[in-house]
Amino acid sequence: MASISIKGLTKSFNAGDDAPAAVANLDLDIKDNQFVTLLGPSGCGKTTTLRMIAGYILPDAGTIHVDGRLVSAPGNVVPPDQRGMGMVFQNYAVWPHKTVYQNVVFGLKLRKMPAARLKAKMEETLALVNLTGLEQRYPNELSGGQQQRVALARSLVVEPEILLLDEPLSNLDAKLRENMRVELKRLQRRTGITFVYVTHDQAEALALSDHIAVMHGGRLQQYGTPQDVYARPANRVVADFMGLVNLVPAKVAGPGTLEAAGGLKLQVALPDGIKTGDSVEVSIRPENIRLNAAGNGAPATVSERTFLGNITEYYASLDSGPTLRVQTHPAQVFAVGDKVAVEIDATQCSVFRSSAP
Ligand code: ATP
Repeated sequence: MASISIKGLTKSFNAGDDAPAAVANLDLDIKDNQFVTLLGPSGCGKTTTLRMIAGYILPDAGTIHVDGRLVSAPGNVVPPDQRGMGMVFQNYAVWPHKTVYQNVVFGLKLRKMPAARLKAKMEETLALVNLTGLEQRYPNELSGGQQQRVALARSLVVEPEILLLDEPLSNLDAKLRENMRVELKRLQRRTGITFVYVTHDQAEALALSDHIAVMHGGRLQQYGTPQDVYARPANRVVADFMGLVNLVPAKVAGPGTLEAAGGLKLQVALPDGIKTGDSVEVSIRPENIRLNAAGNGAPATVSERTFLGNITEYYASLDSGPTLRVQTHPAQVFAVGDKVAVEIDATQCSVFRSSAP
């Protein structure tokens, strides 16, 4: 379908005051036929970025190309309806007084499509989003998930090359959200449309995306595959945002050797420029820590245990050291107060300079 190339994209809403830019100098290359997610906490600039791609917000600086065609540069802005993009919003934005059919057919009628083609296109689109049979219902006769599918159908029926989705699942309950995730991914694969998806939910981003752009404070922190951003975070902001993590202060004791309080020693790959004597933080995911009843590992005491069904979560307090959050298979059972040895898979740890953002 279509690629998007963003260079130096910048937007400040309150020019002149000290507030940081909503989006600052963003570079992003989105390949065609990809599912790309803009991920980050509330206020990090995701929606502003999406709306600049759509053409609803004018950037202060930077360019946007779609398939090599310039659609946005200061003083040279292609209007939203000429960008070949559809948009789906969190609140569905379907017309309450129109039926499913009337909601979806609207875009085709504007294009004055011949009746036979229009009918075929409507049938195809409604089937694509599993709405066949519900054509005559009004939105208030549909579930939240069905209403969101109407919104999707309305965008898809006009065959956009790019679909922009702004937290489209956040009004749905947890179970439905998971079902819709699977449907969205399937939809993207079947249509080949480039999806740009905004969410603050890292699990959603990991499940859906080919690539994730992690944003914070209006800036891009990392752009990579879900595996990259989860297992190889570029900095502590990304490590912290992409799921549970223990961020432990440590000192570089020698080449590739870290020492932390509580007798914790790790052999790790150090990033360039970090040398013996430097203070660092090491990020350790809870699932990369093992608790042993005895044997190798730093001595610790179990201070909390929570059974979560598929996993059990422990807090293990290293003797005169930090407390680590640990996730294990539920078959492995320790009691609060048990003495354990903590073993860490250092190959899965990331190291950041202490002063890193
Ligand atoms: P959320 O997940 O809460 O929607 P977001 O990451 O999408 O957040 P944006 O909506 O892009 O964040 O907002 C980025 C920053 O720009 C925020 O500080 C926000 O307050 C500010 N902002 C957004 N829209 C406007 C506006 N129209 N006028 C002034 N400031 C705005």
